[in-house]
Amino acid sequence: MDHHCHKHKERIAIIGTGWAGYALAHGLDLNKFSVTVVSPETTSTMTPLLASVACGLFDFRLAQEPIRRKRRGIKYIKACVTHIDFEEKTLSCHPAFSHLAMSESDVHEFQVYYDKVVIAPGTRIDTFNIPGVEEYAYFLKKVADAQAIRNRISEMFEMASIPNIPEDRQRQLLNVIIVGGGPTGIGMAGELTDLFQDDYSELYPHLRDKTRVSVHAFSHKILSPYDTNLQEYATQSLNRNNVWVKFDSHITRVTANAIETQEEGRIGYGLLLWATGERPVPLVDSLDVSKSTHGMRRILTDSRLRVLKKDGTVDVNSYALGDAADIDGESLPPTAEVALQKADYLIHQFNTFPTPDIEPGVPFRYKQRQLVTYTGRKDGVVAGKKEYSGYGAWLSWKSGNLMWTRSWRRRIMISVTWVLNWLGGRDIARN
Ligand SMILES: Cc1cc2nc3c(=O)[nH]c(=O)nc-3n(C[C@H](O)[C@H](O)[C@H](O)COP(=O)(O)OP(=O)(O)OC[C@H]3O[C@@H](n4cnc5c(N)ncnc54)[C@H](O)[C@@H]3O)c2cc1C
Repeated sequence: MDHHCHKHKERIAIIGTGWAGYALAHGLDLNKFSVTVVSPETTSTMTPLLASVACGLFDFRLAQEPIRRKRRGIKYIKACVTHIDFEEKTLSCHPAFSHLAMSESDVHEFQVYYDKVVIAPGTRIDTFNIPGVEEYAYFLKKVADAQAIRNRISEMFEMASIPNIPEDRQRQLLNVIIVGGGPTGIGMAGELTDLFQDDYSELYPHLRDKTRVSVHAFSHKILSPYDTNLQEYATQSLNRNNVWVKFDSHITRVTANAIETQEEGRIGYGLLLWATGERPVPLVDSLDVSKSTHGMRRILTDSRLRVLKKDGTVDVNSYALGDAADIDGESLPPTAEVALQKADYLIHQFNTFPTPDIEPGVPFRYKQRQLVTYTGRKDGVVAGKKEYSGYGAWLSWKSGNLMWTRSWRRRIMISVTWVLNWLGGRDIARN
């Protein structure tokens, strides 16, 4: 029998169930560790699939993975961590329920005690305090967001089909404005192009020429992680697909059916998607540790992912990874790829060595992987080890759908969906 079973298992607390927290929770050796996961979300979101889900390519259940699974001994608590006491090694937590009517006794704060803590709470969307964005814009971070977008698109087309509706109102309803020229905004524009030109033009032939998708970028370029030639390629590809890209756009206000810009004044919309800006979650804002000073403020760690205290020394019992953290002296992108590689690194460190705080093994090193963005009509761009565009990029994006998931069940379901979509179109008429 494993000798660890007779000893007090080391308690590891994980904050967050995103790419980082989920991978870590399911990779740690439970014979060796007692693992407690605290997060308001009971599932982990496969973010690269969200745009496809919003456009009805996949069922929304394919884009999430539950934290609780059979035959696993992980303890999960549906709550938000509000404070970390690094001295006492204690988390203060608040139950996270929005719909359940809770009695006073349900909402009590409680504590979780740990030997090691892993901080992975991701980021939240920045609306730059532009009035109206919070109320009226749609976001794309969770499965519920993708479902809301899908329903909204369906409502737009139905409303535009009501008899005697004036044509300018139809055009307004079918105008999609995407704010943000990053991979999320551009990918969404690409997928909407396909949706409108393939399936919806058959379901709503009377509205075929009235849809419009535009991307408002805050700077003079799109897709900043890519080289200039690929940025230009992507812009041309979008233009070919009738996606209008507006550079250096300054949005001053948002109302229920229009945006106001410095350049063009008022522009009416049927759907406004806010796909830009990240800022720290409240927990990270409040933590008294070293944080990066340029770009978004992220928790700084050493190259073994241990949190750096205010004075720059290492806290050997605290680790941080994912979008909320960066390695001191580096500037790794906030991507699922980095989050997963860091999680795999920590899993190896924790599972292999008796005490991960004595610096065995090697420091974390990021392995560059390809970054794919789809621009619609079987076109796209790929950066990373090799750079390319066009049909090959579309193939990479397609196979990426499968690569992103570690679950066989979901891989099979995605493949079945492809075949069904190919045979009979996507399943968008149902809610
Ligand atoms: C639409 C979209 C498409 C993307 N496509 C790609 C792609 O193709 N390739 C790629 O590499 N990356 C992609 N990304 C980026 C990728 O999703 C992020 O880098 C990744 O989610 C970061 O993982 P994380 O674990 O740090 O945080 P997240 O996934 O954001 O998860 C954070 C978790 O922490 C929880 N949490 C927050 N605050 C607290 C608290 N106080 N207490 C407890 N829990 C808390 C949250 O509820 C959540 O469960 C995409 C992102 C989006 C939005």
